[in-house]
Amino acid sequence: MHLKADLHTHTIASGHAYSTITENVRAAALKGIELIAITDHGPSVPQGAHPWYFWNLKMVPSVLNGVRVLKGCEANVAADSDNGIDLPDLILEGLDFVAVGFHPTTGFDVPDRGRNTEFLLEVMANPLVDQITHPGNEDEFPLDLDAIVSAAVRYNVILELNDHSFDPHSSRVTSTGREREFAQAALAAGAAVSIGSDAHYALHVGRFDAALAVAEELGLAEDHIVNRSAEAVLAHLLGKRERPRLDAGGVWEWPSASEGGASW
Ligand SMILES: [Zn+2]
Ligand SMILES: [Zn+2]
Repeated sequence: MHLKADLHTHTIASGHAYSTITENVRAAALKGIELIAITDHGPSVPQGAHPWYFWNLKMVPSVLNGVRVLKGCEANVAADSDNGIDLPDLILEGLDFVAVGFHPTTGFDVPDRGRNTEFLLEVMANPLVDQITHPGNEDEFPLDLDAIVSAAVRYNVILELNDHSFDPHSSRVTSTGREREFAQAALAAGAAVSIGSDAHYALHVGRFDAALAVAEELGLAEDHIVNRSAEAVLAHLLGKRERPRLDAGGVWEWPSASEGGASW
């Protein structure tokens, strides 16, 4: 199975990631990835990007050297905001892709399944929200699986099977069983599923091996995975709502060395 889109990639704007948008796009192009979503951390995690960063993403190319670039976020569930997210709806509306997840230090560090589920259900009901990242993080942020999977079906929200969660060095590695259960329940319920790299370095863009092995075990076929191609991703997203700035950045080719540009 070769997935041609990656809906979860970070850049230096996340503070603890190490590549630029351009480097991530270049790595994607080299791997035959047709589309990536730039999903930097929202402002409530340490060194998370400022709201202005997300607002101004419209100036980044929409297509660079043939790779479709979705300007997105990995926002945080937030206890102290109007919409339960650490970016306001006004900013989310302008993004091409809105992912939301739980992360340390944002007000949910005491594991409380009931409270986490209540907040996340409110987030999922927001029509601007497209994807929940690593929902199976049982040890840090336990959730009521049935309630979240039902909400994913009801609101057409993608549940991510996160490749990085299976990395032995990941902070989420103790919860891989639960990540697997979420994917299995999503498949059984007919919820949309994606596989994301959660790349924090360019060469990790499009790295899905561990999650793909789990998908194969569970009988999750390519047809079930939203990020199987750029076309499938765009059809899913545009079926949910308009993306007003999708093409705002234009179609660009990096200048070649013969044109006086640095090599791509
Ligand atoms: Zn995350
Ligand atoms: Zn992430």
